[in-house]
Amino acid sequence: MKNLKIKSTTLIMVLTLYFSTILNLSFWRFTYQNIDIASFRIFCFSASLFLFIAIPLFLLFNLICTKIIGKPLIIALFLSCSFTNFMMFNYGIHIDKHMIQNVMETNIREATDLITISLFFWILITGILPSILVLITSIQYRTFKEEFKTRFKNFIISVLIVGICGSGLYKEYAVYGRNHREVTNIINIVNFTAGTISYIKRVRWAKRKFVELDQNPQHMDYLKDKKMYTVVVFIVGETARAGNFSLGGYERKTNPLLEKQDIAYFKDVTACGTATAISVPCMFSHMNQKKFDVTDAKFTENLLDLAQKAGYHVIWRENDDGCKGVCERINDVKNMQKTNHPKYCHEDYCWDEVLLDELNDILPKIKQNTLIVLHTQGSHGPTYYQRYPDKFKKFLPTCDTADIQDCSLNQIINTYDNTILYTDYIISQSIDIVKKYPQFESSVIYVSDHGESLGENGIFLHGMPYRIAPAEQKSVPMLIWMNENMKKWHYIDYNCLKSLAEKNIYSHDNLFHSLLGLLAIKTSVYDQRYDLFNACRTKPLPSAK
Ligand SMILES: [Zn+2]
Repeated sequence: MKNLKIKSTTLIMVLTLYFSTILNLSFWRFTYQNIDIASFRIFCFSASLFLFIAIPLFLLFNLICTKIIGKPLIIALFLSCSFTNFMMFNYGIHIDKHMIQNVMETNIREATDLITISLFFWILITGILPSILVLITSIQYRTFKEEFKTRFKNFIISVLIVGICGSGLYKEYAVYGRNHREVTNIINIVNFTAGTISYIKRVRWAKRKFVELDQNPQHMDYLKDKKMYTVVVFIVGETARAGNFSLGGYERKTNPLLEKQDIAYFKDVTACGTATAISVPCMFSHMNQKKFDVTDAKFTENLLDLAQKAGYHVIWRENDDGCKGVCERINDVKNMQKTNHPKYCHEDYCWDEVLLDELNDILPKIKQNTLIVLHTQGSHGPTYYQRYPDKFKKFLPTCDTADIQDCSLNQIINTYDNTILYTDYIISQSIDIVKKYPQFESSVIYVSDHGESLGENGIFLHGMPYRIAPAEQKSVPMLIWMNENMKKWHYIDYNCLKSLAEKNIYSHDNLFHSLLGLLAIKTSVYDQRYDLFNACRTKPLPSAK
């Protein structure tokens, strides 16, 4: 083994070949699925794609294959490309700045959920073994001058090839680039380097001033006379998709309890993002989906800040993956996973029932207007089977492993549907708990943060770039319940609300303004056009200033 040697130029060729093929399997599968070789030009274009992948890699290895930094960099690239290739190939995930953000903001529980036997073997074979080989091989470099001459020649030849191919097949590249803008997210090395650079640029280097939306938001005066506390419970769902709610027409009875509650179920609601790190801040932001920027949101007041300023006691109970900056300035925040509740918590996650106990605790102590946010773990994958206790294991057989690619589609859907069944229980119980306090003016709202792919077109999980994400990842369930006091004091025609919910199209864009309306907060940023209650008010609320 000690005698393993390789010339630097040979190593560059071998690395280029290996990274262009094996470590870019997802790109080649994408190409195979998306290109129809209908003409000779398209054939030439398809063949040239190999150069399109290989030449940048060839240039990169010409640059980094040097004495001191060569080996560590090559090994780092082996391991990271092997991992991203697994995620892209098996889960159809795209690696972009949002995905990098997810990775940066993930917690240990989420990260360990992803570690599976097949991931281990995949990385062992395509990442670790090549790394060991590089580590024990002696790379034969020539003198600096000779190395420089060869590599400069390589650079010129590469540029010439790119120039010739590019000008000859310009149209094909332009059309392909326009139709498949997402392709850069699945080309290994380009995807995570570009993603990481723009993530760092946006978050770490951003020296930003905090933006105050309104210095003095007010709880509306005319409602003070009623001497009644407003209590709104806002349940933020996780990974529940609208398609699997029987309230929305899914053929399986996944909402047996909610079907018996007097609620308005919104049939057509679009999420703001396809990942928690985007959707959750967006749901509480005054920016709408088109204008939403997650970095801007970090530096701007949100709904919770306004409610707190208007005199609300704002409570955040966290049972998912963090509040993503939304509860940053809120005083009453508790992470349920840290409570180690003996009945509901296991190792590093808790069933959402832990939030119901919390709600039972909070409500009798209420002495002012209160907004309670319950951030559930809902249907977070791929470990769907860990999201619910045994009595909700109703749809069988289930997929009781994180290695969802080893399960049949039927098993995956059964397990996912059990998580929805459990969510149905959590929401319905929350409503029942709030019903015990008719003296308040109260409402329970539930909205999921984004949907989930369950194998449609070979795609799993979520987090696809918004523009190309399938409807399953964007279409979310939403529902509202309110008590008699809330209907009366807000002049809400509940039947009107129910019928609008049935037929109108809504999105997360409606949340900020609708909640301001429901909390009766008078602020300059309120826009009644987005307040979904507005069309069903028999009397208008006093207009914003
Ligand atoms: Zn989420």
